[in-house]
Amino acid sequence: MSDKCVFLDRDGVINEERGTYTFTETDFILLEGVADAIRLLKNNQFKVIVITNQSGISQGLYSLENMLSCHRKMMSETNQLIDDIYYSKWHPSISESLSRKPDSLMLERAIAYHQIDIGKSWMIGDKERDIESALKVGMKTILISQTEKLETQAGFIEKNLIRAVENIILKN
Ligand SMILES: [Mg+2]
Repeated sequence: MSDKCVFLDRDGVINEERGTYTFTETDFILLEGVADAIRLLKNNQFKVIVITNQSGISQGLYSLENMLSCHRKMMSETNQLIDDIYYSKWHPSISESLSRKPDSLMLERAIAYHQIDIGKSWMIGDKERDIESALKVGMKTILISQTEKLETQAGFIEKNLIRAVENIILKN
């Protein structure tokens, strides 16, 4: 028995992309429609798993506890419906890692542990490295973008998470 899943990048998909590292609860601002989108996915039997690069930890810019406090706020504001969170603390200046997107080890671990059906699953991200990571394991992809970015490898483009769920995932 395997489950379908929607994997979500964090910054720019769940919370506001600030153009720099987000590691305080004050700066962690949930985007409009995100809590509704996650509830809709859960009501349609999808697992929801967050896949996030957090290289600021290995670079000493913020602590693991800083990240965890943001994740507690994220869980609370999305009604504890997120099934799991995978993070990669590595940065090429400290250590190369296959877990850091655009590599796919975080996804592979999540797929194995949660017994995910890749063919029925999606990755939603706002950066090309999110899309590349998902294409390495053969998953469907949606890029969150305010502009029509024609050079993307993503299968679909949408403006935000709730539109991606309503207009693409629930119709494909
Ligand atoms: Mg992002």
